[in-house]
Amino acid sequence: MDIFAKCVDFTDAKDLMATGLYPYFLPLTGNDGSTARYEDREIVMCGSNNYLGLTADPRVKNAAQEAIADLGTSNTGSRFLNGNLELHERLERSLADFYGREEALVFSTGYQANLGAVAGLAGRHDVVLLDKLVHASAIDAAMLSGARIKFFQHNDPEALDRRLAACPPDAGKLVVVDGVYSMEGDICALPLLRDVCRAHGARLVVDDAHALGVLGDGRGTAAHFGGEGADLVTVTFSKSLASIGGAVIGDSAVVQYLRHHARSLIFSASPSPSNAASALMALEILKSEPWRVRQALSNARYVRDALAARGVPVGSSDTPIVPVFTEGRTETFTLWRSLLDRGVYTNPIIPPAASYRLRTSFMATHTTEQLDFVIEAFLAEFANLPAAVS
Ligand code: PMP
Repeated sequence: MDIFAKCVDFTDAKDLMATGLYPYFLPLTGNDGSTARYEDREIVMCGSNNYLGLTADPRVKNAAQEAIADLGTSNTGSRFLNGNLELHERLERSLADFYGREEALVFSTGYQANLGAVAGLAGRHDVVLLDKLVHASAIDAAMLSGARIKFFQHNDPEALDRRLAACPPDAGKLVVVDGVYSMEGDICALPLLRDVCRAHGARLVVDDAHALGVLGDGRGTAAHFGGEGADLVTVTFSKSLASIGGAVIGDSAVVQYLRHHARSLIFSASPSPSNAASALMALEILKSEPWRVRQALSNARYVRDALAARGVPVGSSDTPIVPVFTEGRTETFTLWRSLLDRGVYTNPIIPPAASYRLRTSFMATHTTEQLDFVIEAFLAEFANLPAAVS
């Protein structure tokens, strides 16, 4: 059996390309946050995770440029050896301070932070319990760890309770959930999940990728619930922090252990000077300009309410993520294409990633004019569907 045979037989992408409905790997030629350039046209960007709109902020850009001037373009090595910068450590202190935790550990991506945390802590005698809708990186991390994997019903503390009760009493137990779920935009039931974990002696990891800069005045899921957080938090810099990289945040003992056991940290090059500097600057701006968090949320609410009022099926949660539900593959890709032609960028999602939808997200720097333009485009396209909106 030729292991390449499946590649030759793979026609899904070719079929979509032939009809002009292939929506992935769109080569953008410009991006100033709320607008992007594609095929020499300006489009309103409603598909990025740039919630605070900081990717084009002059202070963030300058910080990146200065870091390149001082430290070069790459550290050409792992943090464990030649690739560690005082800048990485400043960023760690700033993150730990923002989350009110003892220490943080900076990785090169959020994906790697999850791999490092979960596979660094769990092994083949342990059980990793995952929310059914947890991000793919947590699933990959659990598989990499070699631990037994159990999924539980989405955001359901009772389902978690039942799963934990069925675990061998002597196994280590690690529960991983997202703070904000990236496809639905809903928020994890942190206090209840934490109580269940406590009752079973399990440890809880919350992936705050979409919660940092969004919930709790930007301080994440624990702050949203006004109190104590998870045992360990992971974050990414590729959303609100306008950069690329990730971190694990928690108690010193655990962070120190991961510093020496997280293979995705030790065997991969560290975040470049410009990535670390831009994340640090974005974090400082987040700390000093909390209006950005409120604006991102109110912009999303503005679009969500306008679409819902006219019968467009949208998700209901109060985060910058607004899923617009669609029916089937053809409708999803056709709507995506028509909206793009009107100058609106969205992300088409099909199973198994999630049920059919256009994932939209809004940022602090979208103007009311842009939001109205997006609303009108959606209303016009949904009016063309067989079951037209009111
Ligand atoms: N966790 C979640 C919940 C995410 O949505 C993502 C990115 N989409 C990641 C982790 C991975 O982050 P990064 O892009 O920094 O690898």
